[in-house]
Amino acid sequence: MPGFEYFGKAEKQQVQDVLENGVLMRYGFDGRRQGHWKAKELEQALAARMQTKYAHVVSSGTAALTVALASAGIGAGDEVILPTFTFVASFESILALGAVPVLVDVDDTLTLHPGSVEKAITSKTKAVMVVHMCGSMACLDALAAICSKNKLLLIEDACQAIGGSYKGKPLGSVGDLGCFSFDYVKTITCGEGGALITNTTTYYENAHKYSDHGHDHVGHDRGAEAHPFLGYNFRISELNAAVGCAQIARLDEFVGIQEKNYTILREHLNPIGEVTFRTVPEGGIENYSFFNFFLPTAELAGKAHKMLGKAGIDSCFYWYDNNWHYYRKWEHLLHKKSLGRLPQEVVDRLPDYHAADFSFSDHWVGRNISCLIKLGWTEGEVKERATKMASVIKACI
Ligand SMILES: *Cc1c(COP(=O)(O)O)cnc(C)c1O
Repeated sequence: MPGFEYFGKAEKQQVQDVLENGVLMRYGFDGRRQGHWKAKELEQALAARMQTKYAHVVSSGTAALTVALASAGIGAGDEVILPTFTFVASFESILALGAVPVLVDVDDTLTLHPGSVEKAITSKTKAVMVVHMCGSMACLDALAAICSKNKLLLIEDACQAIGGSYKGKPLGSVGDLGCFSFDYVKTITCGEGGALITNTTTYYENAHKYSDHGHDHVGHDRGAEAHPFLGYNFRISELNAAVGCAQIARLDEFVGIQEKNYTILREHLNPIGEVTFRTVPEGGIENYSFFNFFLPTAELAGKAHKMLGKAGIDSCFYWYDNNWHYYRKWEHLLHKKSLGRLPQEVVDRLPDYHAADFSFSDHWVGRNISCLIKLGWTEGEVKERATKMASVIKACI
């Protein structure tokens, strides 16, 4: 997955371009910037690649999720459905708006289980945030049908699956809004950065204003601009956007390398009868940022994960026990630990996750091992890794 592996000539040239020009801010300074608009360039490239009308680049993936929700009018007390297996940013963005994160189960796709989503809908539900974890997607047709039947917003967190697609559409472009992260460990990086994409003019108009203090971005005098509603500062700097301009041009190259490396690993594990693979919904194409497989029991998966580590196979994750990606270790959310007082709507309506039964998620996540795909491996290195992985797993079962 990591764009950080390749910080090359093109990235340096883009940053140098900004440094020489000296305008580090994405808005204003029209005269001084002499045609340098890196954030805008990145937005154009992203909208073109994702086949959406609009793209708006912000300071992080977490910011992109927050801005996406805000742009669609999500606010205090609204319930947003999200998966038990994701990154903490998902519920952080919801809580930041005073909205209520409602966790539901994941299935063998390792993403939202449509049946569980349907069961969690209440009169307060406003949106479903689907997270395409570890390079692959949820069953988007089923989720889109549930959302349209119940008049809910569908937001795609495609931070870990940029470059993947569903029935010919780029991931992120299927829902009402899609979000990406360009942090340092994602498939393409800005150092720090993120983006949202949409085909809905209102959401885009709200997004660029909300992420810049409510500036309406009309005219050429920032100080004289109007502020139609309250906003915040989620701007990206031109320096970060410049890195993204170089990286987005390499997205398809990176995904191609990931696919090649993934395929070698999969071919080596495929003959082992006890190993099964994550379900990719029909019509879906992964971005191959991770190689995900299941073992017959959680006990075996935990054991195999330890043995892989001992054998020197790095970057394989057992998410079931992970601090950041699975609900079991989110004590801060489970205990509502915040620095200041949480909005009353959240205090009142946040479900009691101690009592919740996520055994369906546990069944899948507990048996899963997920291995990061690196870009820099040589073919020989991947084959050696694959052979070693196969023999470690065979020895475990
Ligand atoms: C990385 C990530 C984010 C947050 O992105 P940042 O740019 O680090 O804020 C959100 N969701 C998922 C699934 C992620 O992997």
